[in-house]
Amino acid sequence: MVAGTTVSRLARPKSTGEVLGDRRKNGKLRSWKRYKVESLQIAEAYRLLGEDARANCVADCGSRLEFAECPNGHQRKLIGANFCRSRLCSMCASRRALLIGLQVRRTFHDALTRIPDARLIFLTLTVPNVRGEHLGSATTDLYGGFQRLWRTAAVKGIALGYFRGLEVTYNRTRGDFHPHLHVLVFVSGEYFRDRYINRQQWIEYWRRAVKNPSITQVDVRAVKPKMIGGDRLAGAAAEVSKYAVTGKNMIQSDPAETALVVAHIHAGLRGRRLAQFGGLLSKIKKELKMTDAESASSRELISVGDDPSCRCLTCNAHLERHVFCWLNGDYVG
Ligand SMILES: [Zn+2]
Ligand SMILES: [Zn+2]
Repeated sequence: MVAGTTVSRLARPKSTGEVLGDRRKNGKLRSWKRYKVESLQIAEAYRLLGEDARANCVADCGSRLEFAECPNGHQRKLIGANFCRSRLCSMCASRRALLIGLQVRRTFHDALTRIPDARLIFLTLTVPNVRGEHLGSATTDLYGGFQRLWRTAAVKGIALGYFRGLEVTYNRTRGDFHPHLHVLVFVSGEYFRDRYINRQQWIEYWRRAVKNPSITQVDVRAVKPKMIGGDRLAGAAAEVSKYAVTGKNMIQSDPAETALVVAHIHAGLRGRRLAQFGGLLSKIKKELKMTDAESASSRELISVGDDPSCRCLTCNAHLERHVFCWLNGDYVG
């Protein structure tokens, strides 16, 4: 399904034979191509696992990208695409991560206007690495631990809301998986005045919450107040809104190993909510009528909150449609 916006009424798409994103001088692939190539490798993994229908779906993802672009080269905005919406598809995951990042920025920004003396802290919560077949139960431990941590009296007293995102990385050398939570916590101003929780206490609370005495680390960092204004909130948002698994992390040089990693992650994360808002942030998300990024429609994955505009923001020129199709390893339009 290809979706378009108001810009599609403007004009016939132009066709110049241009290769999308071949402008970078440092030899790096531009992201569209990189995500497309990764998605093809994930599709191959599904094929090796005998999941042909899913493989076909992921392989076709983003084979057609439609942009509205400034004739003077100022901007290029996605207005249409055939996204597959599969959970492990790199192309779709990159769009979901953008959407989640936007939601985190908007909700935390809103929360800070309501409670200006609040502060933000980052927490990274981990459980020990596990073999692939135990990824599901490790994720259960992690989520259960988080709920208990959130109910810990000292935490409950100062934490007003949060965003948490699951990330799973694969360790090639050891062949095991590392599930962990990136949490951005919205704490009341009192936290840094008289209800401070130091690192050792966080470790102790987390150890108890996750019921694992072998836990020796919790990464906790304050987001500096001066970082919060304007674009600086974007940095904090980007840090927590990385999508659960990246193609780069799943894809191995041996396709059979990639298939094994994909199989474990697919099974281990099935039915799990990978990104979640809580407390005040969840309330704000509802008030702003934001959908869950994980069930985002194609339309939402395309626009990622952009207002459809027919004019270039820089020079006010009318935007032109430009369609790029995946052809022999490149996007050509
Ligand atoms: Zn996709
Ligand atoms: Zn322009």
